[in-house]
Amino acid sequence: MSDKILLIICDGMADRPVRQLGGKTPLEFAETPFMDKLAEIGCCGIMDPISPGIPPGSDAAHLAIFGYDPTKVKVGRGYLEAVGCGLEVEEGDIAFRCNFATLDGQGIIVDRRAGRKNIDGKVLAEAINNIKLAGGIEVTFKPTVEHRGVLVLRGENLSPEVTDIDPHRIGVPPMKAKPKTLTKDAKRTAEIINTLVKEINKILANHPYNKERVKAGLPPANTLLLRGASTKPKIKPITEKYRIKAAVVAGGALYKGVGGAVGMKIVNVEGATGTVDTNIAGKFEKAIELLKEEYNLVFLHIKAVDNLSHDGDLKGKIDFISRIDKVLGKAVEEYSLDRCIICLTADHATPVEVGQHSGDSVPIVMAGPQILSDNIKRFSERHAAQGNLNRIRGMHLMPILMNFIGRMELFEL
Ligand code: ZN
Ligand code: ZN
Repeated sequence: MSDKILLIICDGMADRPVRQLGGKTPLEFAETPFMDKLAEIGCCGIMDPISPGIPPGSDAAHLAIFGYDPTKVKVGRGYLEAVGCGLEVEEGDIAFRCNFATLDGQGIIVDRRAGRKNIDGKVLAEAINNIKLAGGIEVTFKPTVEHRGVLVLRGENLSPEVTDIDPHRIGVPPMKAKPKTLTKDAKRTAEIINTLVKEINKILANHPYNKERVKAGLPPANTLLLRGASTKPKIKPITEKYRIKAAVVAGGALYKGVGGAVGMKIVNVEGATGTVDTNIAGKFEKAIELLKEEYNLVFLHIKAVDNLSHDGDLKGKIDFISRIDKVLGKAVEEYSLDRCIICLTADHATPVEVGQHSGDSVPIVMAGPQILSDNIKRFSERHAAQGNLNRIRGMHLMPILMNFIGRMELFEL
């Protein structure tokens, strides 16, 4: 019996038939000899990450796939991203996700991403981290990728029950934080956030870095749009639940965060960016290195498929899937499948023609020691639906995998 699992999640890889491809899905159309090989020697099925027809957010889908019921466990995006980028979040701290954005002279949002690329968040972070707030509230800001970052407030009597600053659209000013409940703490926290945002705007507007950006014809990163206020949840780590050592290899902070939140060790890989130019080979190498060590479960996340799908980039999606396949093939050749179970799936579908997450089921394959093969020889949405695994929900996956490595307790009366 093996006690090693490599769980590969290609974000948003599942799709629908595309007319331009003669009714094939991007996964069917792409060259994927190694994914097909997995299908041939392993067992396929389809998975509803949350439940049939529900379009999942990536966070909820991953939480479910790790065996937690996302309708019951409350884990905020702010907390996840903060954990994911290596910030310490203690009980009582409030974490937010945020975007650098561009305000015009009237305080209207003209670009929710401040040009998105080439923002030196580190320079601006220094200025934000120097902000002193009344009541001993500490502010920690850390930039992540492109225009994104996380902000953590630490102090007495803070509440996550506050609304977002980010209106999620342009042409309007940022919103004011409001308490979601009538508690004193929520009211106070909303006031603290509104004061903080004013202070941030003042500092960013006058920052030499932004003056340089304007001179260079770039949109200044002159505000920070906060959203997803959240605290540390109370959950039993996956490592305790199944008596395993687990690690996450991902580029995006959110995914490292979901892994970290359930107790996985966050392992960083040079060049793992969560974008199209990511170092997929490096991620696979690291994952295999961890499996060769004492790790039982390594979760490897590949984000760019989802980005390309959101952008409606059909060719990009097909090419990227083929790229994953090549690297996967090399990894499987080097780290023999008789030592490890490989499970490959997606956290949801992001059909290129829709440009957003949909509630379709996703294909899944698992191959390795003691896994019964079926008659499926291709890995795709259509083929996997005929496999022996049939149709499962995201929450079923961990027990299924853990059963194969002998980590499930006997159920008896
Ligand atoms: Zn996703
Ligand atoms: Zn997405």
